Amino acid sequence: MKQKLTLFRKALRFVWQSAPGWATVNTVISVFQSFLPLALVWLIKLLIDNITSAVSSHQNVASGNIILMIIAVVIVYFLDEITTDFGNFVRNKQSMKLEAYMYGLLHAKAVRLDLINFEHPQYYDCLSRATTEAPWRPNTILNNLISMFRGLLSLILMAGLLLTLHWSIALLLVIVNIPGIWLRLHYADVLYNFRRDQTPEARKSAYFNWLLTGDRPSREIRLFGLGDYFISLFRKSFMKQKEEELEIIRKRTVIEMISDVVKALAILFLLIYIARQTVNGKLTLGQMAMFLLAFRQGMTYIKDLFSSLSSLYEDSLFIGDTFEFLDLKESVVANPPVTVPAVLEKEIAIENLSFTYPGNPQPSVSNVSFNINKGEIIALVGPNGAGKSTLVRLLTRLYDPDAGSVRYDGTDIRNMDPEHYRKLFSVVFQDFMLYNLTAGENIRLGSIDTGDGSGKAQNAAKSAGVDELLNKLPKGYNTVIGNLFDDSRELSWGEWQKIAIARALFREAPVLILDEPSSSLDADTEFEIFSRFRAIVKGRTSILITHRFTNVTLADRIVVLDKGSVVETGTHDELMRNRGMYYSMYTKQSSRFK
Ligand code: ATP
Repeated sequence: MKQKLTLFRKALRFVWQSAPGWATVNTVISVFQSFLPLALVWLIKLLIDNITSAVSSHQNVASGNIILMIIAVVIVYFLDEITTDFGNFVRNKQSMKLEAYMYGLLHAKAVRLDLINFEHPQYYDCLSRATTEAPWRPNTILNNLISMFRGLLSLILMAGLLLTLHWSIALLLVIVNIPGIWLRLHYADVLYNFRRDQTPEARKSAYFNWLLTGDRPSREIRLFGLGDYFISLFRKSFMKQKEEELEIIRKRTVIEMISDVVKALAILFLLIYIARQTVNGKLTLGQMAMFLLAFRQGMTYIKDLFSSLSSLYEDSLFIGDTFEFLDLKESVVANPPVTVPAVLEKEIAIENLSFTYPGNPQPSVSNVSFNINKGEIIALVGPNGAGKSTLVRLLTRLYDPDAGSVRYDGTDIRNMDPEHYRKLFSVVFQDFMLYNLTAGENIRLGSIDTGDGSGKAQNAAKSAGVDELLNKLPKGYNTVIGNLFDDSRELSWGEWQKIAIARALFREAPVLILDEPSSSLDADTEFEIFSRFRAIVKGRTSILITHRFTNVTLADRIVVLDKGSVVETGTHDELMRNRGMYYSMYTKQSSRFK
């Protein structure tokens, strides 16, 4: 219970922080609205009594207070309607602000979180629950709390009114609703546990849905004729979840219907009692109408009250997932004593570095040591799965190693703020990103904080061999590229790769890493880039990962990796003389050209 109250408090803090003004207006309107039903019931009683006495004394409508009463009823009715409409507008406005606020929190957390989280399926479960629940749950908590208090207040007022009739009627009002409360709380728990257990299955069906509707899979799905296969997988996964959920809801509905019978019996008892009292002259017609209305309204309030209570209970279960995500700890942080990284002066030293992906039996990087001197061009080569890309992720501190360290001019990079440290690197990843933005933005994203002074973006594009192509686009560098939006132009994969290289060159970071940068480049562009590689990198420390050995020869030093370990280091000539792994790979590749 204490834990749930803490969750509510945290959720309400979000509601308040996102829109304090609107939250206040919402609360005020709700409290005001809770008094209106009682006023209405009371006025109707007065109206009926006035009409009854007018009938018995043969007066007309204009006499006495009848017109006044009618006007008062209409005013209260009008107030109720207008506050309901305005209240809905306020709630919409507040929801919008809260949704934007919660997305802000989620996104800020998602982009900061350790990359290693993406290796855990539980992380996706947590992320998926948080992203579906976070934007709207806190607001539901507020609205449920408000409607609970509003219902409670109205109920107390109505029950007070019914007490003047007979204490047992007020008691009856409460007792007949008790099975309903139990039912709702119990099933809130059952449904929550069910949905939580179903998260992996729900993600699976979302994945099949993406395969069937996404752009990337669309070509293979058609070519291999996989549509029906994935439709059946989606259907199986989807129906599995829904049928089980429906079974729970079916059980709940049956019990709910039984509890409705109890309520109907209570109304029967009340009607007989009030009818007898009225016939016996103990109640006026106005009082009869008032008590009937009060009981009916009271039943509605009690139902609303308990449904907000059970929704609150459900909210408390679901909002916990959002906090679980927002509270995930980041371990790739600056460990004290914190050092602010400067431009590389001497070297980056990789010392006995080891790293195993979660769940993998073998390390992907095992006891790796070598130095990268300032201004040097290092080539990292080795067979598929040797650990080259993993090493880059450790070097750029996307992961922290299990053992060993990376020292940047002598300082362990774990003592640096990862955000500051990463500013020293520019990388073309093997799986570089395609941004559906303008061509110019695609390049400038390499260094979003710095402007495009003196045509830097164009220079980067020239170096990457893509300037001519971009100039020919309908709006030049201002053409949106990709296929997601109107007026955009799609590029070939190799053209996208050139843009990714231009983006990396635009960022004037002291260390440049290119992971398979020429895998899709045409022979001319590749030749153009790599024959001028030194001029293009302008003396920056560079790491080049490639399977194309013609490009490797330009490196000052070559590090050969195999099964996560360094097997050889040296210049091209030295390694050729060694006749080791490098020699064997090089000769195999070059023999194909002879
Ligand atoms: P390639 O030349 O094919 O790009 P690589 O040398 O860059 O290969 P890595 O991508 O570093 O190799 O992979 C090294 C090992 O780590 C491989 O055995 C691979 O299966 C494993 N591995 C890579 N990425 C992950 C990951 N995200 N989760 C788990 N294991 C991974």
